[in-house]
Amino acid sequence: MTKTMQALVWHGVGDLRSEEVPVPRIGAKEVLVKVRYAGICATDQEIFCGHYPYPAPYIPGHEITGTIEEIGEGVEQLQVGDRVVIDPAIPCETCRYCRNGRPEFCQHYRELGINENGGWAQFVKAPARCVYRIPDTLGDLSAAVIEPLVCPFGAVHAAGVEAGDHVLVIGDGPAAMYFVQIARMMGAASVSVSYKLDSRIPDMRKCGAAYFAESKRIHELTDTKAYQAHGGFDLVIDAVGYAETIRQAIEMVRIGGRIIFYGLKEAETNGFPHKEVILKNLTLYGRTNAPALWGKVIECIENGFLHIDFIPDQVVFPHEVAELLSKPQWPWVKCIMKWSE
Ligand SMILES: [Zn+2]
Ligand SMILES: [Zn+2]
Repeated sequence: MTKTMQALVWHGVGDLRSEEVPVPRIGAKEVLVKVRYAGICATDQEIFCGHYPYPAPYIPGHEITGTIEEIGEGVEQLQVGDRVVIDPAIPCETCRYCRNGRPEFCQHYRELGINENGGWAQFVKAPARCVYRIPDTLGDLSAAVIEPLVCPFGAVHAAGVEAGDHVLVIGDGPAAMYFVQIARMMGAASVSVSYKLDSRIPDMRKCGAAYFAESKRIHELTDTKAYQAHGGFDLVIDAVGYAETIRQAIEMVRIGGRIIFYGLKEAETNGFPHKEVILKNLTLYGRTNAPALWGKVIECIENGFLHIDFIPDQVVFPHEVAELLSKPQWPWVKCIMKWSE
């Protein structure tokens, strides 16, 4: 008899249903994970609203922690009962990029919760190579916010922070909080933040930000030592992604500086100031997943260089999620869904 489980299944625009579905069956080199926590993020909201190109129905959820329930043949590094976090992006392992050690460029990767059944369920299956043990010092709830940390980590890893750089982060969400910490860890002399909500300032300060300006008054930062030291910021990170913040990034960066475009609030930008990009000799970076860096990110957390414990500030249960996804704005930093004790 097939075993069944509870899951949240997306059936199309605005239609998320709680259903009883079969427990996934694992094959060789796969594991079955009993989900404990699963994050809810802007991507899930876009799926809910039908902005992703993949056909319904499927189970969303790509920020997943839990315990190993069952291991498939040939799985050696994990055991039943291990507390784990899952990297939802599954590179193909056979394309040119995967074989050259650049899985982040894989064009054939599948992703749990995006185009494969994900973690908004009692159980989820994943390839063992995408599953990482959670360090003893880290709780399962906090571990659910490792996935949204890996992408910013990969972006800064690509653009680089030189020791003594002055960095500006535009945004005040969890990704912005991560960017501040990563820039500090990588040797920035200062990190400044352009924010929308002043309620985020204490957390941003805890992350290591030194200078602040409200987003509409971002130019106040030009009066700071951080800006004036090098005649503009060495690295600017746009963790928001509106036409306005993209323009601000290009304005606030120094000549010859670097910009990371990370936020994706708008898909296209009319009036993109490419003339300024050329005349200022800028280097622009775009990054999403960073499958090769999961191990490094977990080591940085384990050794106390990156702090994520304070990021989840709201826990909800599966039956509350459909209503939550239909709200345009959330008051918390990061909301996590609880599936089991
Ligand atoms: Zn996400
Ligand atoms: Zn590939």
